[in-house]
Amino acid sequence: MTYTVTLIPGDGTGPELTQALETVIAATGVPIEWERRHAGVDVMEEYGTPLPEQVLESVRRNKVAIKGPITTPVGTGFRSVNVALRKELDLYACLRPAESLKGVRSRYKDIDLVIVRENTEDLYAGIEHMVGADAAESIKIITRKGSERIVRFAFEYARAHDRRKVTAVHKANIMKCTDGLFLAVAREVAGRYPDIEFEDRIVDNMCMQLVQKPELYDVLVLPNLYGDIVSDLCAGLIGGLGVAPGANIGESAAVFEPVHGSAPKYTGQNKVNPTALLLSGVLMLDHLGEAEAAKRMHAAIAAVIAEGKDVTYDLGGAAGTQQMAAAIACRL
Ligand code: NAD
Repeated sequence: MTYTVTLIPGDGTGPELTQALETVIAATGVPIEWERRHAGVDVMEEYGTPLPEQVLESVRRNKVAIKGPITTPVGTGFRSVNVALRKELDLYACLRPAESLKGVRSRYKDIDLVIVRENTEDLYAGIEHMVGADAAESIKIITRKGSERIVRFAFEYARAHDRRKVTAVHKANIMKCTDGLFLAVAREVAGRYPDIEFEDRIVDNMCMQLVQKPELYDVLVLPNLYGDIVSDLCAGLIGGLGVAPGANIGESAAVFEPVHGSAPKYTGQNKVNPTALLLSGVLMLDHLGEAEAAKRMHAAIAAVIAEGKDVTYDLGGAAGTQQMAAAIACRL
């Protein structure tokens, strides 16, 4: 069976990274036909929008997409294509595994965490306004439905991946309605998964604990804002953005992408590290049900990084993006 997957190359260093991804996926032997669709600043002129309908149509039809990063203009111009994609396709779960890889410089060695961030609600619902000239309000939305489905996602993920514990992160001591609802729903859902341990932590304490004792934690589930912040903290624990993969998953589609942005200053230089996008590809293979190929691809990436010969500048090597991808493909 051949899978059809929407490939969104993105802009900046995105196209070079997706080229590296194609090389490595081809070497896994999993038959994937890429349906290339373009989004971002480069298509604005032709389509009048950075996210043309044909991109959404392709992802809806194929149900799986992988993308390179897309630049968002600061202050003016269009809204983030990344945020629009998540909204349009209701990709409510943001999955970000954070795992130490031998050969990646970091203060920590044995990190193995999975962050599950709610992607659609909270202060990111974008409901804010000025109150006169000198004050502003932003409204925090938390619903039973939104909390239920994200906590269920975290427990289902834990069960499917032999994880032992889910920790719900909140600030329900202060925000008794919004975070209070999130926590109450998390406790209810946890009751349906007696095989998996459950606990909760207040977000500020969680940040300190992750820095001091990350080995105590396993799967974390968080509302949108805390999830955004804590997932970058966890990327820091494993050595930074160059090695942090991600996925945005909904009921009817899933979009895989690295956590990092388009690194525009390196565009066209064959320089940036493809690991984060390649590890996002591993998550995609797993999602497609190709667990064995996902495992092989992960092992090949880890082996090339551990060897340290064919790796990019940020990992202490002198290889280019495509050379590193070729070395990983060769291992496969
Ligand atoms: P960035 O992630 O592009 O870069 C931050 C730093 O990390 C830079 O020094 C960069 O060179 C480095 N870096 C990033 N990826 C790397 C890689 N693969 N290998 C080696 N080094 C790497 O963040 P930024 O500069 O804040 O954002 C640039 C643009 O990307 C912005 O327009 C932003 O909106 C966009 N962005 C897009 C996404 C997305 O598409 N999902 C995510 C974040 C940022």
